[in-house]
Amino acid sequence: MKFLDQAKVYIRSGDGGAGCVSFRREKFIEFGGPDGGDGGRGGDVWVECVDGLNTLIDYRYQQHFRAQTGVHGMGRNRSGAKGQDVVLRVPAGTQILEEDGETLIADLTKVGERVCLGRGGNGGFGNAHFKTSTNQAPRRANPGLEGEEKWIWLRLKLIAEAGVVGLPNAGKSTFLAAVTAAKPKIADYPFTTLHPNLGVVRVDSHEFVMADIPGLIEGASEGVGLGHRFLGHVERCRVLLHLVDGTQEDVAEAYGVVREELAAYGGGLDEKPEIVALTKIDSLSEELRAEKLAALGAACGRRPLAISALSREGVEQALRALWRTIDGSREGGGMNTVPAPEDEPWRP
Ligand code: GDP
Ligand code: MG
Repeated sequence: MKFLDQAKVYIRSGDGGAGCVSFRREKFIEFGGPDGGDGGRGGDVWVECVDGLNTLIDYRYQQHFRAQTGVHGMGRNRSGAKGQDVVLRVPAGTQILEEDGETLIADLTKVGERVCLGRGGNGGFGNAHFKTSTNQAPRRANPGLEGEEKWIWLRLKLIAEAGVVGLPNAGKSTFLAAVTAAKPKIADYPFTTLHPNLGVVRVDSHEFVMADIPGLIEGASEGVGLGHRFLGHVERCRVLLHLVDGTQEDVAEAYGVVREELAAYGGGLDEKPEIVALTKIDSLSEELRAEKLAALGAACGRRPLAISALSREGVEQALRALWRTIDGSREGGGMNTVPAPEDEPWRP
């Protein structure tokens, strides 16, 4: 699955309907007077956070959203109807930004949240509104006010609960493909993962979302590498799975490089619970495995897991460890906790 993480869309709220100039004309009724109704309000533009979406892919196909114009006022004091609203449906975790791409308008984290992005224009007054004691036959009505229009950015930060980090080629994509139904690109050269991939992991009848975070390289947090734009995706993870390629020379250094990146990025990334695992152990001999594990253990200060995405050795264990951490951090009322229904007795 290709992960579309931002989209630029045009929104326009509806213009107000115009007021009407009309006079009552009926047989046998003199001095009918003005009876032009007011125009209706234009439709609003809303954005709503809904369940069941996890990308902004829909906004690649439709980028323009216009709410309806209010209906014009009519004679016999009929006011126009309000124009219909338009609602942009987005997944949880979407941020709405101004056209500059920096100013935050809204941050939607919970399903059901709604934010109004543009109010429809007010309808104009009909001539009935302008009747006074000195002007009993006003021939003026207001046009409706114009709606607002602007370009906005939708940006989705993954609400993946587990993020897989590591140097390029550490085996992140392979691991994700092994434990979920996601089909990331896997290759023997760095930066095959240009878009983060998402997958749902099932372990012991629990489920969580895991994201493969593209290769970090040194300096990524300063915006040099490809990684920077994606580092934002890791921000909301509850746990990081840090993979270290066991086939390389210096596993301790590889570990250190990624840790430095995480620290340099800020946003509390380096304080997240981390599970460290030595990967590709299928291609290591017994002694080499012990040696690398010891080196990595010394670097990270605890016993790392040993896994292989190919032979699936240790994979189940790693998933369980991830789940335990996620489950533990959910306790404190995380964003996925469902509020308990109110215990009010039923009353007619
Ligand atoms: P990423 O850059 O971290 O996403 O790395 P990839 O998942 O694209 O893997 C890079 C290379 O390592 C690929 O050629 C994989 O086939 C290889 N690889 C990944 N996991 C394992 C493993 O568990 N054992 C072995 N032997 N090779 C692996
Ligand atoms: Mg990859």
